[in-house]
Amino acid sequence: NVGTTAGQRRLGAAARSQEHAMNDSAAGRPDAGLSTFQAFTGLSLDEQNILDQADRFGQKELLPLASRMDDEEWWPTEIFPKIGDTGYFGITAPSEYGGSEMNMVASGLVLEGFSRYNHALGLAWVAHENLCLHNILRNANDDLKKKFLPDMIKGRIIGALGLTEPGAGSDALGSMSTTARREGDHYILNGRKIYITNGPIADVLLVYAKTDKSRGAKGISAFLVEKDFPGF
Ligand SMILES: Cc1cc2nc3c(=O)[nH]c(=O)nc-3n(C[C@H](O)[C@H](O)[C@H](O)COP(=O)(O)OP(=O)(O)OC[C@H]3O[C@@H](n4cnc5c(N)ncnc54)[C@H](O)[C@@H]3O)c2cc1C
Repeated sequence: NVGTTAGQRRLGAAARSQEHAMNDSAAGRPDAGLSTFQAFTGLSLDEQNILDQADRFGQKELLPLASRMDDEEWWPTEIFPKIGDTGYFGITAPSEYGGSEMNMVASGLVLEGFSRYNHALGLAWVAHENLCLHNILRNANDDLKKKFLPDMIKGRIIGALGLTEPGAGSDALGSMSTTARREGDHYILNGRKIYITNGPIADVLLVYAKTDKSRGAKGISAFLVEKDFPGF
């Protein structure tokens, strides 16, 4: 059970503000009966509520964009800020950054709800939300969190993760050839990445590179690369 956090109330309020009706069984009330779907999935009422809200958002906001995205490789620039305003970024992030303070199950349910209606947007969402934003949340220092998380959670900047390379896919860590060499107070990265979700539209990319080839997969670090960095 994900509980009723401030973030969840925020998601609930946002969904209602879009005139999305909620039925009794999905309203998170302890006395409401289990729906057939819940009995099948084992979701709690709160979790079912999150999935239902994401489903409604997906149907209303994401489905109308899907065909053109698939047919024309089109990116709808207004959708990430709209997702951010509705509270669907930073699901696992603390409220001090504007996040919803929920767990990975909630994050997975949002992805499920969105992906029912727009697969491309579902993938763009999870690359930003999980591969980049959640990764920064778990592993970056406070300065980097303060610098990137609030804007990422608002959907004002787009994140990506760059691990795969030509010649380094399933065995990405072992076969990686991108290197990072320290020069004074900064690093020089050299290499190529491929198949990076959000790569062409990202503002900030978490890029994996080898700092010490002799240590194999243990000699790898992640670097936050901004799209305006020289040489990118
Ligand atoms: C839609 C999509 C989005 C992606 N987004 C990202 C992203 O955001 N960031 C990122 O870094 N990467 C991303 N990738 C890349 C993804 O991580 C790689 O495609 C994946 O790691 C597989 O690598 P590959 O494509 O080079 O396939 P390969 O590693 O060349 O594998 C090809 C085939 O060989 C098989 N195979 C591989 N090794 C072995 C083995 N030792 N024994 C037997 N069979 C084997 C595999 O199972 C597969 O069937 C994305 C890929 C896709 C398809």
